[in-house]
Amino acid sequence: MVLGSGSREHALALRFASEGHDVLTLPGNAGTARLPHARGRNLDGRADDVQGVVAAAKREQVDFVVVGPELPLVRGVVDALEAEGVRAFGPSRAAAELEGSKAFMKRFLERHGIATAAFEVFDDVDAAESYVREAARPLVVKTDGLAAGKGVVVAKDTDEALAAVRVAMREHAFGDAGKRVVIEELLPGQEASFHVITDGERFVTLPAAQDHKRVLDGDRGPNTGGMGAYAPAPVVTERMARAVEEDVIVRTLRGMRAEGAPFRGVLFVGLMIEEGQARVLEFNVRFGDPEACVLVPLVTGGFYDLLYAAASGALPRDVRVKDESALAVVMAAEGYPQKPKTGDAIEGLDRVPASQVHVFHAATKVEGSTIVTNGGRVLTVTATGKDLRAAHDRAYEAISHVHFRGEHHRTDIGARALSDHGKMR
Ligand code: AMP
Repeated sequence: MVLGSGSREHALALRFASEGHDVLTLPGNAGTARLPHARGRNLDGRADDVQGVVAAAKREQVDFVVVGPELPLVRGVVDALEAEGVRAFGPSRAAAELEGSKAFMKRFLERHGIATAAFEVFDDVDAAESYVREAARPLVVKTDGLAAGKGVVVAKDTDEALAAVRVAMREHAFGDAGKRVVIEELLPGQEASFHVITDGERFVTLPAAQDHKRVLDGDRGPNTGGMGAYAPAPVVTERMARAVEEDVIVRTLRGMRAEGAPFRGVLFVGLMIEEGQARVLEFNVRFGDPEACVLVPLVTGGFYDLLYAAASGALPRDVRVKDESALAVVMAAEGYPQKPKTGDAIEGLDRVPASQVHVFHAATKVEGSTIVTNGGRVLTVTATGKDLRAAHDRAYEAISHVHFRGEHHRTDIGARALSDHGKMR
């Protein structure tokens, strides 16, 4: 059973189905409802309703639950499933605090000597405001708790930082999640992310990925959940990858064990890289979306078995990865991210060439005989290829076949890597 309804969940469900498993997705989308060979169906419910998920898992006698989004993890869905004897992939509630509380995460990094931006934690709004005024330099203001991806403001100036503090702490725009804020220095550099799959002790590292958060080409416009991604990201050299494993991953897993909350599942480490140095921006305690769409197709061998082994505390030593690149482009609904329109028919899905292309569904649903849009990020069109250029061209070719009213996507996914490092891979 896969929990969630995005393109990440479709990528996972499709992979498990292709490996011969029957897959239930709760709540899923039009893609997970129609897995090949009738291997999948959707279940009604909400992924973050812990009791409902446990009841569904027992009713359907599922062998294994893979949790997509963060909220059920932070609410303790893995603990609740395991208490009922259902094996689940993902961290316990205590370990999920690495994403559930920025203050916990930053203090954890500090305790364990892991490089990150300098920071202060504030529970008091007056103290936060005077800190911002006195700092008089660019700052990043983050709500402590989960705020559906909207809790981070990268402020150019003091006014923007003050506004972010006010919205979170005086206007309570994010409820309890914003009662406490973390204010940190703005780091320059290029972002990249690492995903490691771990049984709490051993881990395997997936190729480094880069995503594109802003809605418009050239990294302009408002932040989104992610408009595209690619892997491997050439900004991360082999040497840097080994350094991140030693200085970040090993220390984090050891630290979590020492603090009595071993981390099992997939740890997604967001990094800022400058002059060959990587510092931790954030942890996520689940696969990124759209990152999962480029990572899952690059892993060879049994993906289900890999996750099951991690959840059982018996991870294999190595993961085999294709010597290829993958690139994903999100097709978004009119009005996304502010106010996405829904209910528009999606056309052309059957005209997309199947070879080395996956159209992962996100906000889609079946309505009669058509598939319609059902939210902001509608589809994640992913292609693989011998290098980034090949994956890029194939993904954009695939996109040209698919249409819905008001559709928009970025035309420059991977452009920076292609111009900086185009000849490297
Ligand atoms: P987070 O959820 O903490 O990763 O923040 C979301 C996004 O805000 C990141 O992916 C970065 O683009 C940006 N960001 C967060 N913290 C910083 C920082 N200290 N310096 C620069 N950019 C940041």
